[in-house]
Amino acid sequence: MGLYDSYQKEVLEASLWLLKHGYFGSLRGTGGNVSARIAGHDGMAITPSSVKYSDLTPADICIVDFTGAVVEGKYAPSIEAGMHAAIYRERPDVNAVVHTHQLYGSIFAALGRPIPVLFDEVAFALGESVEVAPYALSGSPELAANVAKTLVNRANACIIQNHGILALGKNMDKALLAAELLEKIAHIYCLALSTGKPVTLLPDATREMARSLRDYDVEQARKKS
Ligand code: 13P
Ligand code: ZN
Repeated sequence: MGLYDSYQKEVLEASLWLLKHGYFGSLRGTGGNVSARIAGHDGMAITPSSVKYSDLTPADICIVDFTGAVVEGKYAPSIEAGMHAAIYRERPDVNAVVHTHQLYGSIFAALGRPIPVLFDEVAFALGESVEVAPYALSGSPELAANVAKTLVNRANACIIQNHGILALGKNMDKALLAAELLEKIAHIYCLALSTGKPVTLLPDATREMARSLRDYDVEQARKKS
């Protein structure tokens, strides 16, 4: 078994789960991308660019270092490899990154509007708020910088203006859960706003508790790295 096999398998399995559940915005397209940090290396396993997920085998998942150099793989890596690398650099607590074009999350990407975390379980998983990273062209270094700057808030998700969403986690399961919870609150917030009635928010004290939990995770990861 090779050094990268388990990472490649994990990235492919997560991608197929996201595809099956409609998170990439289309069933035939190749929108979105998924990566996993290679423990102890400045590198990651990441989906290739513009190859249908259903056609991939684990060996097709690219291994790339954080400068963008391909270490292993026959395909070109995702154009967002720089964005994933910028997140791993900024956030030592993050070991998996999921970028999707999911439906309800994308409504708030189109509105350029943050989503309030609304429920305890969501606040404790995602952090005190889900902010919007300003628009820049897909795959550009500007987009990578905008996202890294937004995620200094230590949240496990953000919206990318006029594009999609990012969900992060200390492992792949948590990153997928973050994408699911984000879709849940985006859906609920959208329907709640459509009633025209005021939406109640979590109290500041609960959001501050969520923030301190995220701070704790980041500090623990920084000490270990
Ligand atoms: P890739 O196929 O290169 O990963 O691009 C998809 C995407 O979502 C760009 O933002
Ligand atoms: Zn995208």
